[in-house]
Amino acid sequence: MTSPNEIAKVWFLPWNRKHELAKLLELSSAAAPFHEGDFCAVKMHFGERGNDGYIRPEYLAPFLQMISACKGRAFLTDTCTIYAGPRKDALGHLEVAAEHGFTQESVGVPVIIADGLHGTDDEQVEVAGTHFRSVKIARAIAHADSMLVLSHFKGHLMGGFGGAIKNLGMGCGSRRGKFEMHSGATPQVDAALCKRCGACVTACDHRAISLTKVSAQISIDRCVGCGECVLVCPYGAMGLAWNQGPKQVQERYAEYALGAVKGKRAFYVNFLNHITPNCDCLSEGEDSLVADIGILASSDPVAIDQACYDLVLKAGGDVFAQTHPGVDGTVQLAHAENIGLGSRTYDLIEV
Ligand code: SF4
Ligand code: SF4
Repeated sequence: MTSPNEIAKVWFLPWNRKHELAKLLELSSAAAPFHEGDFCAVKMHFGERGNDGYIRPEYLAPFLQMISACKGRAFLTDTCTIYAGPRKDALGHLEVAAEHGFTQESVGVPVIIADGLHGTDDEQVEVAGTHFRSVKIARAIAHADSMLVLSHFKGHLMGGFGGAIKNLGMGCGSRRGKFEMHSGATPQVDAALCKRCGACVTACDHRAISLTKVSAQISIDRCVGCGECVLVCPYGAMGLAWNQGPKQVQERYAEYALGAVKGKRAFYVNFLNHITPNCDCLSEGEDSLVADIGILASSDPVAIDQACYDLVLKAGGDVFAQTHPGVDGTVQLAHAENIGLGSRTYDLIEV
């Protein structure tokens, strides 16, 4: 990771030469961060069921060979989602991952959901942020020695765009972590979905929930926004208020990104292809905003995202701002640089 205002190196392989991925890695990872005996977390997004934007398992072999050549012990990993869907717990998530070709049999390394069966398995990691003094990082990632962060760079509803910083930040937080990045305020009950089972009432340590004749009801005065009720509701009736604006959410996940790599050696690769308007959590495919551009590699998560953003702008104008009006994705870059995650200044080196 480079210091803020230092010039980071970002290597670039044009998409029409993607078959030379091994060469990109050979040149860009001269100071490979993977050591003998490392538990190396390969942080990915396995894609939501129905999505077609995620990085395909066919691309993984050179990455896993790079780690194995250093005698590191790789595992593929992601975390539970906060929204109700098939990836909200480890079993459902592994099912979807397998449907998309991510199994130990197919890729040769274990596939682990880093925050456990229900997304509650995390470690508090101290950070010097402006929103957080500590963040809740999925335990298997927190305990890894090194990380390879493979990110699909594309548009995002709250981030404007999402790449390495988003994959690290939102993607490495446990479900509680994701809740505090997104909200931190009172959840909302969907009365149409609520079965009045009472699980949320029992789970709330602050006695903020009661059952009416129709549904659960939250007392705004008592609620501290811990998100526990969202996590325990078996019917998806308790939801995020989604009340933080894009600026807050981006700054918060940049601080989580800082916690995710704290004390670790890390290397980043961004795939700048099939650049969709929205993220790979969408349960359907989307058309690309611009033509495929290439694959980038760096030891700096801020520089690589800045380079991807600049390349997209060069290729098609500010398609992210057109797709998500009012969302300034550069907030995450600026905040990430300010808190010491990396540098926005880079040299782009074409392989
Ligand atoms: S846990 Fe969900 S379904 Fe059960 S009472 Fe609470 S909101 Fe309703
Ligand atoms: S967010 Fe926490 S404090 Fe608020 S109602 Fe839910 S469980 Fe209770």
